[in-house]
Amino acid sequence: MVISTTISDSDSHLHTTFASRYVRNPLPRFRMPEESIPKEAAYQIINDELMLDGNPRLNLASFVTTWMEPECDKLIMASLNKNYVDMDEYPVTTELQNRCVNMIAHLLNAPVGEDETAIGVGTVGSSEAIMLAGLALKRKWQQKRKSAGKPYDKPNIVAGANVQVCWEKFARYFEVELKEVKLREGYYVMDPVKAVEMVDENTICVAATLGSTLTGEFEDVKLLNELLMEKNKETGWDIPIHVDAASGGFIAPFLYPDLMWDFRLPLVKSINVSGHKYGLVYAGIGWVVWKTKDDLPDELIFHINYLGSDQPTFTLNFSKGSSQVIAQYYQFIRLGFEGYKSVMDNCMENAKVLKEGIKKTGQFEIISKDVGVPLVAIALKDSDTYTVFEISESLRKFGWIIPAYTMPPNAQHLAVLRIVIREDFNRNLAERLVLHIEKVLKELDELHSRIAAHVTPAKDEKEHQKEEEVVRYWRRLVDRDGTSGVC
Ligand SMILES: *Cc1c(COP(=O)(O)O)cnc(C)c1O
Repeated sequence: MVISTTISDSDSHLHTTFASRYVRNPLPRFRMPEESIPKEAAYQIINDELMLDGNPRLNLASFVTTWMEPECDKLIMASLNKNYVDMDEYPVTTELQNRCVNMIAHLLNAPVGEDETAIGVGTVGSSEAIMLAGLALKRKWQQKRKSAGKPYDKPNIVAGANVQVCWEKFARYFEVELKEVKLREGYYVMDPVKAVEMVDENTICVAATLGSTLTGEFEDVKLLNELLMEKNKETGWDIPIHVDAASGGFIAPFLYPDLMWDFRLPLVKSINVSGHKYGLVYAGIGWVVWKTKDDLPDELIFHINYLGSDQPTFTLNFSKGSSQVIAQYYQFIRLGFEGYKSVMDNCMENAKVLKEGIKKTGQFEIISKDVGVPLVAIALKDSDTYTVFEISESLRKFGWIIPAYTMPPNAQHLAVLRIVIREDFNRNLAERLVLHIEKVLKELDELHSRIAAHVTPAKDEKEHQKEEEVVRYWRRLVDRDGTSGVC
């Protein structure tokens, strides 16, 4: 939930165009109107205002799904009025969520026997999934410490400085210290060696990211597992790994089935994935799966019976819609392994086309890796004249929403543009985007050379020398004050 702020606009009323056919008076902006209005008017007013939002299909800032098949849209619309928590009333919806959990657990190689069911739950997204996984890890650690008669009030998590913001939220909301492994020049994910150096007896888990939010790169979970096993053996600790596979969890199983990062590794005890990213469902669904029943402490599971029969629940929310669960099940059976693989192959292919096109401009360094989430992260080779922030801003006029940001400590000097490739991005769009990037580069070059020409108009030689002397003098002053870089 975004903290409420509104577009600054002194007008306290909404003025509408077409709705004036139905309503005479403008609507108050921040107070509930005194009177009702016809449904057509309400529709028209909101529809007109929403026109100014960006086009989701051109929003390359986000991993979250922006297109589904019309058949699935139909199922979603038909289930909008079903509350997911009413398991007794909607047993089929509950059954579909259980099937999804099991399908995901098998995809992630959880050790689930033929007649066993996997342990996991559908959530609003990876953020809720991570809160739940984090709470389970914290509770397990506390139980162990308690029974050993040791203090259990200073839990910590070790993760890369590149973690998604939800880990910082978890740490602050649930009072766990987040110990971040700093990045470094040329290495923009968690270094497993450093991570294992940072763990101690209070570490509830090391959180690895499969698909760094910033660059799409996969962290080396296999190496982390090896090093942490050694450390555990040396010290007698029992520190597990959680994998945040929000974006990579639906990429790796299809594109890199031999990559060892999931439940096949002994220390990986829980994994989250975002159904609404490469799980290919609209915003509002995530999943967390535990390796075994023992990895989810019983005391976190609530049993309620006032909606019907006994229901175990472990979520932060009580009520929520069921359409996303149904949509996830649709995608699983509609696409199957084959379909997901071909969607992911296609995304990778489009990322490659885009990357090659961008490389050809000669202006960018490619920061994203070939193996990882299908995205292209780029940095300017030379940002003396203009920056990626200006490029991001200029691309908006063509409708593209492409974010620019600086990397976390200790790589904050690097500013990148990130272009996420989703299923609904195609080769034509990739080619057009490259054209627009070239155009923007040319415009910025021209603009900045005009500015430069204006700032230093041609002078006669003598005047020029005098000016240079003044500049040198100021430089010396500034350097002495330690404020160089200003001029
Ligand atoms: C997107 C993302 C999250 C948060 O996921 P939501 O599903 O949006 O809550 C967490 N971790 C990583 C690595 C992500 O990419």
